[in-house]
Amino acid sequence: MRGVVYNGARDVSVEHVPDAMIEQPTNVVVKITASNICGSDLHTYEGRTDLKPGTVIGHENLGEVVEFGHAVCKIRAGDRVCLPFNVSCGCCKNCEMGLTGFCLTVNAPAAGGAYGYARMGPYRGGQADYLRVPFADFNALQLPDDSVDKENDYVMLAAVFPTGWHGTRLAEVQPGDTVAVYGAGPVGIMAAYSSMIQGAAEVFVIDHIAERLVLAEKFGAIGVDSSTTDPVDYIKDLTGGEGVDRGIEAVGYQAHDCRGNERPNLTINALVDVVRPTGGIGVVGVFVPQDPGAADELAKDGKMVFDFGTFFGKGQTMATGQANVKHYNRYLRDLIHEGKATPSRLVSHNLGLADAPAAYRHLGNREPGWTKVVLNPGKG
Ligand code: NAD
Repeated sequence: MRGVVYNGARDVSVEHVPDAMIEQPTNVVVKITASNICGSDLHTYEGRTDLKPGTVIGHENLGEVVEFGHAVCKIRAGDRVCLPFNVSCGCCKNCEMGLTGFCLTVNAPAAGGAYGYARMGPYRGGQADYLRVPFADFNALQLPDDSVDKENDYVMLAAVFPTGWHGTRLAEVQPGDTVAVYGAGPVGIMAAYSSMIQGAAEVFVIDHIAERLVLAEKFGAIGVDSSTTDPVDYIKDLTGGEGVDRGIEAVGYQAHDCRGNERPNLTINALVDVVRPTGGIGVVGVFVPQDPGAADELAKDGKMVFDFGTFFGKGQTMATGQANVKHYNRYLRDLIHEGKATPSRLVSHNLGLADAPAAYRHLGNREPGWTKVVLNPGKG
């Protein structure tokens, strides 16, 4: 079978790799029909993770079950399923509490596993013709009969839609709240969209890429261009000087100013400033414990200068982490099925697997017109 292989910084290629097979009786093998490129893959592509060269990447996967192990009870060949990017066992202390992004067994002693990602366990990615899914009864979300027509919607259930939703839960968005989201990438736009679905009064999305702000506005947000405006002053002016009720970080450790200078504390400290006293901040952008490629010494060790005094003085709360996709994906699936959510509006390109190296190059350069790529192995 073919797979998209990470070879090193800014170098991926499509290679013939060993076939995905049933390795434990709880596994299924899925023929991949859609697999997205994620902002997290771009951290890898840019050489900013320590993923082992030779690894098949891709953790936003959807497809059709073609084989199942003898201990699998509810999934059968022919089922169309979407796979959470988290690999989780379903029976550890964290999984039992719905915290499947922090499964204690699939990547012990660390918490949390994922397909094709650095430090997230031995699981190959799904930017490939086939994918092995561990603990399939727990991990595979069955899709309804519109799953072919709405494939671009349902594949967003693997990561970006539940991750945006997770950001709103971490920030504790309530109906009527004002919300500021840093980052107009797919995750930021999904955080804004999720806020609006839950009744937020006004949602600001901050970025310095104008066309991404246009897309955020198509989803109903108010775009704030940080290359031309001071977003904190602008949003405070529009919220009576008070600031917003909730803030969501959807950029991560490669946050930079509009000239491209990286400062990982830029968005976090801006959120402390722009969120009102006692407001909530949710951080879903990824931050890492080691970043040898970082520009400053603190960041190399995953540390940053944090405005803790202001944060404390304002009595704010902050919650962080990988999205517990399983906690939300069933309900978000049903919003899609009932026509109440259409996250596919994010998609800029549907391409074949063979197009992956070019797609990574365009996305890695954040080129105009490239927002969210879905790879469809059936297209070539
Ligand atoms: P992306 O790279 O497509 O988008 C990031 C956006 O942030 C870009 O549009 C960029 O211009 C913008 N940006 C950079 N610096 C900024 C700044 N200072 N202020 C405002 N905007 C700024 O990525 P994405 O797919 O949207 O993912 C965003 C983050 O979410 C990444 O760190 C990704 O790894 C992470 N992520 C987390 C989870 C989770 O479970 N927590 C899941 C998926 C993705």
